[in-house]
Amino acid sequence: DEVVRRVHSLVRLVPDYPQPGVLFRDITPLLADASAFADVVTTMAAPVPGPVDLVAGMEARGFLLAAPIATALGAGLVPVRKAGKLPGPIASEAYSLEYGEAAIEIQPFTIPAGARVLVVDDVLATGGTAAATVRLLRSCGAEVVGLSFLVELAGLDGRQHLDGLHIDSVVTVD
Ligand code: 5GP
Repeated sequence: DEVVRRVHSLVRLVPDYPQPGVLFRDITPLLADASAFADVVTTMAAPVPGPVDLVAGMEARGFLLAAPIATALGAGLVPVRKAGKLPGPIASEAYSLEYGEAAIEIQPFTIPAGARVLVVDDVLATGGTAAATVRLLRSCGAEVVGLSFLVELAGLDGRQHLDGLHIDSVVTVD
């Protein structure tokens, strides 16, 4: 389809970034293309089953997609931030990286009990970030109704960490 073709042509492949051996998917050319950006937002907002109260966007590129998707859905926005960026009270969730640990944080008072939340990020890689986001939202009493990604790196099998969840990706690559 036309949106898939445009995503493939506008997401730049950068070898050895941010470290040797990584093939980085650079989405900034896509964001800079007005019609492709609009089409991607419409596509990522479309497949959600049932109503959505809040869209959770992961720092930092997730914010850029989550905000327009939230307004398209008539939902609010929850930024999921790296540790230390949000004023408290915060809820925090740790997760492992290839080397070491990281933590993500949200402000739980922005999430009403039982809120239906869609999780949005640019890339699903190993799934560690998304899985931690799901744990964090659930610990605050939210219901995660789905996850929406622009690019899914299927070879890293991120879905294995997101068992039973509704996952949509605009494009899937190996
Ligand atoms: P994961 O936790 O699934 O391994 O990594 C996903 C996180 O890392 C996402 O927040 C995503 O923004 C970032 N990420 C990993 N690989 C890439 C990539 O190739 N391109 C971009 N734009 N982000 C990536």
